[in-house]
Amino acid sequence: MNDYRLDTRCVQAGYTPGNGEPRQIPIIQSTTFKYATSEDMGKLFDLEASGYFYTRLQNPTNDYVAAKIAALEGGTSAMLTSSGQAANFFALFNICSAGDHIVSSSSIYGGTFNLISVTMARMGISVTFVRPDCTMEELNAAFQENTKCVFGETIANPALTVLDIEMFARAAHAHGVPLIVDNTFPTPVNCRPIEWGADIVTHSTTKYMDGHGAAVGGAIVDSGKFDWMAHKDKFPGLCEPDDSYHGVTYAERFGKEGAFITKCTAQLMRDFGSIQSPQNAFILNLGLESLHVRMPRHSENGKAVAEFLASHEKVARVNYCDLPNDPFHAAQQKYLPNGSCGVVSFELKGGREAASRFMKELKLAAIETHVADARTCCLCPSASTHRQMTDEQLEKAGIPAGLVRMSCGLEDKQDLIDDIKQALEKA
Ligand SMILES: *Cc1c(COP(=O)(O)O)cnc(C)c1O
Repeated sequence: MNDYRLDTRCVQAGYTPGNGEPRQIPIIQSTTFKYATSEDMGKLFDLEASGYFYTRLQNPTNDYVAAKIAALEGGTSAMLTSSGQAANFFALFNICSAGDHIVSSSSIYGGTFNLISVTMARMGISVTFVRPDCTMEELNAAFQENTKCVFGETIANPALTVLDIEMFARAAHAHGVPLIVDNTFPTPVNCRPIEWGADIVTHSTTKYMDGHGAAVGGAIVDSGKFDWMAHKDKFPGLCEPDDSYHGVTYAERFGKEGAFITKCTAQLMRDFGSIQSPQNAFILNLGLESLHVRMPRHSENGKAVAEFLASHEKVARVNYCDLPNDPFHAAQQKYLPNGSCGVVSFELKGGREAASRFMKELKLAAIETHVADARTCCLCPSASTHRQMTDEQLEKAGIPAGLVRMSCGLEDKQDLIDDIKQALEKA
């Protein structure tokens, strides 16, 4: 299936039914799996045979869908998690322990920023943040002896900056560590970070992959390219025997292609239990079947709305990398030549009050803490998620008081523009 083009993989990769088996992916709604002998089951616990025994660790429905996402990203193995937050935490914690250090782009999702800078700090893991468009010199200067990985987002939520994936990969590899890229916003339809050197790719499948605002979920994909054994001293968790799993050495037993995801499943899923429900995996797969049809439409609508806003007198500024004068346009042309996504952010000249008035007048776009849905939605950080901050504090944080983030759905683009136009007139 991986020899077929991306559009075909969206529809059919991951699950190939045999004769007389269900055409649609079956939902295996079972917590447990039956075995004839204790010896049979023992082999699973020793990781000597592969198979299912308890849905907290693995479930066949999830694995069909994970295999599809691996095929889309061009990876060798993948797993689903209960949320995007769990995916990023697992991807980082699978290789970082107390005393280790992460180099991360500063332009990342707020939840991930908190995860790394507050919660993982409490676990003894430190971080140095760098701008997504920093120079190679600045990037190199961020590394320490104990750095174990580099992290960034292809298109950052909500700043909409574009990561220089190739440069970040080059710096990571020069320091003997992998690059982890959160590819939630472009999806593999618009960018495949592994082709630019990323080693691990993560997703909040809650966004475009599901695409209908129906199911929270996450995914981790391994490129199978990073040579853990070549940097043995840095990655003892992968390259030395795991006492909690009968002394298995993941990088030896499962090779470059399988070590990362096997360890992540066997250890982290076992201990933290953030599995995606098979029901949600089924819903996610319905979204994936049309991802290649939906993404171009989201990108087309996002671009049309961004162009309209950029020409409007009441708009001070528009952030959208597929506009020619955007600071990240060159990066977009390189990494996302077919389009970026449906999310646009813009600043209204009248500040906080104008933004609130504008949003109240919108008829199609609903006010929601969400993005990447079939239905257009919007959010004003200064009136919601960041409302406790003063205008001065907001300015310092790089969030102008009049900023609106709009996620363009799959509606007719002229209807979206007409709606924005009438709301701007009243704002
Ligand atoms: C939403 C989001 C997350 C978190 O995902 P959840 O599924 O909400 O846990 C992580 N990264 C990015 C880029 C996101 O947009």
